[in-house]
Amino acid sequence: MPVRIRRIFVLQIAGVVLLGLLAGFALRFALNRLDGHGLDPPARAAGVAAVSLAGRTIVLDPGHDGGNAGAGAVINRQVPAGGFDKECDTVGAQTAAGYPEHAFTFDLAQRTAMILRARGARVVLTRGDDTGVGPCIDQRARTGNDLGAAAVVSIHADGGPVTGRGFHVIAPALSPDRANASILAPSTRLAGVLRTAFGRATGLPLADYLGKEGMTIRSDLGGLNLSRVPKVFLECGNMRNPTDAAALVDPAWRARAATGVADGLTAFLQAGSASTAQRG
Ligand SMILES: [Zn+2]
Repeated sequence: MPVRIRRIFVLQIAGVVLLGLLAGFALRFALNRLDGHGLDPPARAAGVAAVSLAGRTIVLDPGHDGGNAGAGAVINRQVPAGGFDKECDTVGAQTAAGYPEHAFTFDLAQRTAMILRARGARVVLTRGDDTGVGPCIDQRARTGNDLGAAAVVSIHADGGPVTGRGFHVIAPALSPDRANASILAPSTRLAGVLRTAFGRATGLPLADYLGKEGMTIRSDLGGLNLSRVPKVFLECGNMRNPTDAAALVDPAWRARAATGVADGLTAFLQAGSASTAQRG
């Protein structure tokens, strides 16, 4: 074969190999998108590999509500809270600039729900908008119980001392009526994995003004006392602290926070399903 023709032949072969490689990459990209892996890069970055939460029900409970401030008579009435009575609901905290906790919790719950649904979970919120009143704490707990939820996270942001920073998770202690005993162990486990995932995703420090290593254990919260499924409260930061507040008001930070909550729940459910052979 003359040198010139041989050179053209070699170039043609190289062209075919290159096209093949490109087609392979394109196919892999398309398949990733089809099965959802390509849609959730933050989860992969955080170490949550290909996950399916199909068949799992998660309840997200965005704390407070937009109409609470104007409905004192409704939210101040006493409801059962696990061996004692407590107010139906409260107005919640806000930043110095007036960004309210109820708006924060609803936004974060919606973002988190979107991520978890993309992973296959059925996600139910305890309220469908940010303009209503309540629901009362006993009703919020009933939502998770009635659905037999695999896990519930009640989303809040604290109104702590101005100088106090950081987030913390609240796990249940035995309620005064001793009726939540069955959820204490799994809820503590949920609190642990959620604390890790949320800190990793957001970069926010563990609370330095209460609790121990980002965790408190309480028996005075109706939402935890009345739950019969694994449940924790997440206080995402201190709205009264300027540094924390700057994060909480930032939509980009809230997107990372949602990934953190979703990753914590995913890790909890994956670990829980490994022993019961529910994984596909
Ligand atoms: Zn709150």
